[in-house]
Amino acid sequence: MKKIPLFLLCLTISSPLFADGRPNILFLFSDDHALRTIGAYEGSINQTPHLDRIAREGAIFDRSFNVNSICCPSRAAILTGKHSHANGITGNGSAWNSKQWVYSRELGKAGYQTGLIGKWHLKGNPTDEFQHWEILSGKSGQGSYYNPKFLSGSTGESKVEGYSTNIITDKALDWLENRDPQKPFLLCANFKVPHIHRIPSPTHMGGYDGIEIAEPNTLFDDFSSRQPFVKDTWMGLKGMKEGVLNIAPSKSDLEKNPDLTPKFLKEMTVAQRDVWHTAYDSRNREYRRLKKAGLLEGQAGFRYTYQRFIKDYLRCIDGLDENVGRLLAYLDEAGLTENTLVVYSSDQGFLTGEHGWAEKRWMYEESFRSPLLMRWPGKIKPASRISALVQNIDLAPTFLTAAGLGVPDEIHGRALQPLFADAIPADWRKDILYTYYDGGTPEARGSYNMPRHMGVRDSRYKLIHFYDYDAWEMYDLKEDPRELSNRFSDPAYQDEVAQLKQRLEDLKKHYDLPEPPALKKKKKRKH
Ligand code: CA
Repeated sequence: MKKIPLFLLCLTISSPLFADGRPNILFLFSDDHALRTIGAYEGSINQTPHLDRIAREGAIFDRSFNVNSICCPSRAAILTGKHSHANGITGNGSAWNSKQWVYSRELGKAGYQTGLIGKWHLKGNPTDEFQHWEILSGKSGQGSYYNPKFLSGSTGESKVEGYSTNIITDKALDWLENRDPQKPFLLCANFKVPHIHRIPSPTHMGGYDGIEIAEPNTLFDDFSSRQPFVKDTWMGLKGMKEGVLNIAPSKSDLEKNPDLTPKFLKEMTVAQRDVWHTAYDSRNREYRRLKKAGLLEGQAGFRYTYQRFIKDYLRCIDGLDENVGRLLAYLDEAGLTENTLVVYSSDQGFLTGEHGWAEKRWMYEESFRSPLLMRWPGKIKPASRISALVQNIDLAPTFLTAAGLGVPDEIHGRALQPLFADAIPADWRKDILYTYYDGGTPEARGSYNMPRHMGVRDSRYKLIHFYDYDAWEMYDLKEDPRELSNRFSDPAYQDEVAQLKQRLEDLKKHYDLPEPPALKKKKKRKH
């Protein structure tokens, strides 16, 4: 009989479902999740008991940032552990190089069973990045909220009846149930919520009627302190179209005139449409009444739009939280909780009405920050609050280190394990670099009429360089956490401005950041 090593024997006795000893990794990920809509974060406006459980039993990161606040670049930065210029995904139009190094392939090579289910959203399908993948397809990789199509490397494309968040969880649970229990796993469950156009699940469509959700106190920012082109970007709440606010004809109106049926309702089954009409027809009747009475002009209309927007956002988050709960319950029931690192994050934060916006992309705090919660029993003390500066490029090295693997020198991020101790290590980074490339100028417009920018943030200050305009902003986040007073030209801040400019140059050199490519002149786009 083959001799069983003592450590494996001990593991077999203490954890009969698991023989390897290395931790499992369950990485839960959403799209556009604002920190103010997670109960565990300061200033939260809602309840998220299951997400909060991860924070309560593990750690909440208060200063977690992305390197480039938009969908595709964020996903690529996480997979590669590198800033955008080094992984090639500088914007949402960049083509994914499937051959490049990714952490998930390394875990697979080291004996992990690896899977990704849900939103992939890179231009180019996965190949061998994950051993198993089932990704949302259609709508440029966004997928539909109702009856979405999935694409899998093994079974091709198929439409699944149901609601996106529930289906991704069902598929994740199915994968967990049918995995090889002798191997540790990496499972990425990538949800579409709460990305625009926000349609809640049937069980959460009805919430939040008759109550007012708190407004951010920068809802009516006058932009007086910012660079002038900042206010000209196309991301205002007031510009949101009726359709994306779930304002559509009623059931009886559509029965009389089916040609008016919007596409998102056409994608639903009859039963799903009935649930939608039950929830939204009365809200939309009220909308038409207010509009006809002239009660949605000016600030009143802005406030109404905010309430419609934020309530759908929160209904989507309620569905996400419920499904996070289903996955955590599975870990409990399967005896996997103790040996699984659970991570929750989102590709970026989101401006949920701050400065009048409903978007991301900016280096301003609401979109630059990403939620980050981690639970790892025995490794992370319950209710830890981590204030060190971390970025999404740190996740790849964290996962490699958890699996006992080395981190290649070319990786920009740093494993987060040293932060699980009580104090921030003395050699932890003091500042972070941000780059955003999907922008332009009036002559060469980029998406949302955004300016390209880069910047540096330390634990107190932030410097932003809008290099196509040779314009700058600087904020003192301790005195001005909502970034309403640009101090770049304030005589009292010139020492700090000079230091931050130097640090930006240092970080550009450190990460070998090339000069941004010249802008290409484009035809003027309509909003
Ligand atoms: Ca996103």
